Amino acid sequence: MQATMLSIPDLIKKKRDGNALSDDDIQFFLQAVVENNIQEAQTGAMLMAIFMKGMVATETMALTKAMKLSGEVLSWPEEWAGLVVDKHSTGGVGDKVSLVLAPALAACGLKVPMISGRGLSHTGGTLDKLESIPGFNVSQPFPKLRSILAEVGCVIVGQTVSLVPADRILYALRDATSTVESLPLITGSIISKKAAESLNSLVLDVKFGRSAICKDLASAKALGESLVTAGNNLGMNTRAVFTHMSNPIGRCIGNSVEVIESLETLKGKGPSDLMELVSTLGGVLLVMTGKVSSLSEGGRLITESVTGGAALAKFQAMMVAQGVSNENAQSLCSAQADYHRILRRADHQTELRTHTQGVVMEIDGLVLAEVLHQLGAGRTNAGEPINHSVGAELLVSLGESVNKGRPWLRIHFESPALTPDQTKEAWRPPIGVDYARDASPPEFVKNNFVPTTLKI
Ligand code: URA
Repeated sequence: MQATMLSIPDLIKKKRDGNALSDDDIQFFLQAVVENNIQEAQTGAMLMAIFMKGMVATETMALTKAMKLSGEVLSWPEEWAGLVVDKHSTGGVGDKVSLVLAPALAACGLKVPMISGRGLSHTGGTLDKLESIPGFNVSQPFPKLRSILAEVGCVIVGQTVSLVPADRILYALRDATSTVESLPLITGSIISKKAAESLNSLVLDVKFGRSAICKDLASAKALGESLVTAGNNLGMNTRAVFTHMSNPIGRCIGNSVEVIESLETLKGKGPSDLMELVSTLGGVLLVMTGKVSSLSEGGRLITESVTGGAALAKFQAMMVAQGVSNENAQSLCSAQADYHRILRRADHQTELRTHTQGVVMEIDGLVLAEVLHQLGAGRTNAGEPINHSVGAELLVSLGESVNKGRPWLRIHFESPALTPDQTKEAWRPPIGVDYARDASPPEFVKNNFVPTTLKI
């Protein structure tokens, strides 16, 4: 790494005053961060300067590249060239896409080293969902990860200490300094980790709506463009799909309940919005890797891998490879699985009822996720334990006409019991029920998921 003429305070000042940092400046700063040659206050000040002044595309690129190179970069056998893929979602309520998509892609002949995260605040995490399966081990040393990929084709693990260490340090400080919502910092964080996986192709599910980080399509497009540009510049074939995130995906929110819904989906009995999302994202990756020549063909292949049982077989093999007993994996994947013999069920269930007759116009995923978070399904600070059995099942569908008193939500919870706020105030008026009698559902509620743009 080349030495810079500027000291750390000079670099902070340069950014604070709105000037672009050079590649050398950025490398020098990141090296200081990783080698612990910088005060936390200085790192925090630089993060705030970046947050306030932004970065031009060349700076974001230099940041992403330097972050990627701050640790180990994975490598794959030559015969996998062109086949190594992953998906990243910017976070949704009830988002269990990875659990279905990774094995479906493996069943189509791709290699999927999925490095996922844990939930924080109202957002769920794929690793938390998988850890509700007894024995499932999300930390695998690299040689084991590679051998699972060779044998099964997909593996879902957490970030290792050696992969992009700069991100671990910066992310914790971004959290502590309220600098998380910065386009260049988000781009550097997400794309550096994907680039360190040495992917050939990456599809991004950039969400917009009430329950997403990006509240509207315009801000999702700005984020998508930044991510796609950085990914492509770092040598990964990268595309973005923009999807609605207001209503929850599928009918279950929580950890165990989402695993059950994913298994049902892998048995061909999943909700249509989830399957649409899986087949679209998977279809894009099949086109990007040259496995098929059109999105419709790609989507069809993914759907067939699910309905034909090949994806379920991959999921079962992945569970066993990652520590689940053969007996439990087989039992979870059997046609008449008694899921709660293996996945712990919460001590209590209660059903909320609609207060009036009407049509279900919307279901506020964010409110549901926040209440479930309070009940123990999520964590407020990184590292906190969570309760995998807390969750909720939607008992109504968007666009459905419902009578007064109809159960619309089943909540799985433990102690403490639900507070009046959780059962009444936060949930009243009954979420999503339109009071206008006989209102017909608008077009958009019929499709929870609408892909708007496939490529930037
Ligand atoms: N996910 C990440 O990994 N990093 C971010 O900055 C935001 C979401």
